[in-house]
Amino acid sequence: MEKVIDGDEISSRVRDEVAEEVERMDRTPKLVAVLMSDDPASETYVRMKRQAADEVGIDSETVHIDPDASEDELLSTVEELNDDETVDGILVQLPLPDHVDEERAIEAVTPEKDVDGFHPFNKGLLLEGRPRFVPATPKGVVRMLREHGVDLEGQNVVIVGRSDIVGKPLAVLLLSRDVNATPTVCHSRTENLEEHTRKADIVVAAVGVPEFVTADMVSEGVIVVDVGINRVDGELVGDVAYDEVSEKAAAITPVPGGVGPMTVASLLENTVEAARLRQK
Ligand code: NDP
Repeated sequence: MEKVIDGDEISSRVRDEVAEEVERMDRTPKLVAVLMSDDPASETYVRMKRQAADEVGIDSETVHIDPDASEDELLSTVEELNDDETVDGILVQLPLPDHVDEERAIEAVTPEKDVDGFHPFNKGLLLEGRPRFVPATPKGVVRMLREHGVDLEGQNVVIVGRSDIVGKPLAVLLLSRDVNATPTVCHSRTENLEEHTRKADIVVAAVGVPEFVTADMVSEGVIVVDVGINRVDGELVGDVAYDEVSEKAAAITPVPGGVGPMTVASLLENTVEAARLRQK
């Protein structure tokens, strides 16, 4: 097995598949990003998603809402997009300003267009084992491991991080009968965290702390997925101390060029899926 899990290469294969699928469709799918922020990182994420959509032939648009505008303005914009027949997928870029209730905004998106898979209805479907829109990062992580030749069935996967967008849905996906892994989810209150990670066949770091996972926390031959994106002195750094951990790992994802591009590719897949569902 190659040591470096190349997210750029694997995601480009996924994007090619999406492009072929778009070509076969009667109508061009459309993705709309709602951006209520002037944070440069959020603007960059939206730009990257739209560029990727453009490259596979998916129409896209950004609806900008002034960060000082009211929550009602955001909700009514989302309502309009829900009713717009030309729109297949809606994503509300997070984080939202403090005066906006994030849950309310997520729940405003109709589940049929919720390509992020954050709506409680879609989370429920995932939990029930009949997923419709799987959140893009967990979906990308599983696809990436499979494409790299990792058989997840029966594997002991330790996830560090229990967020609603990464850790938790990834655990549910791994537990599904399609994957059949054995997930353990650790978080900031986990005692003796390194005892869990050392027992893992696969460690997934989604902590948001630069280089949190160190070589002494993993065993020889481990497979490591680094979800983290942290900016340190202007550079992107993951949640894994890459150099030292890669010496012990059988396979590891780099940052950048690992999970990030897989997340974007999975969002495109979800958008095509949304268009297909609406066509039916
Ligand atoms: P959150 O901040 O929502 O969650 C972080 C999780 O890590 C929490 O569950 C928290 O525990 C846990 N944690 C924090 N500190 C510790 C600690 N010292 N020991 C053990 N657990 C700890 O982050 P996200 O899940 O949204 O994101 C995680 C990382 O992934 C970030 O770097 C983010 O930028 C990146 N990211 C990357 C994406 C990609 O496409 N590559 C997509 C989404 C996120 P507790 O719940 O107890 O507070």
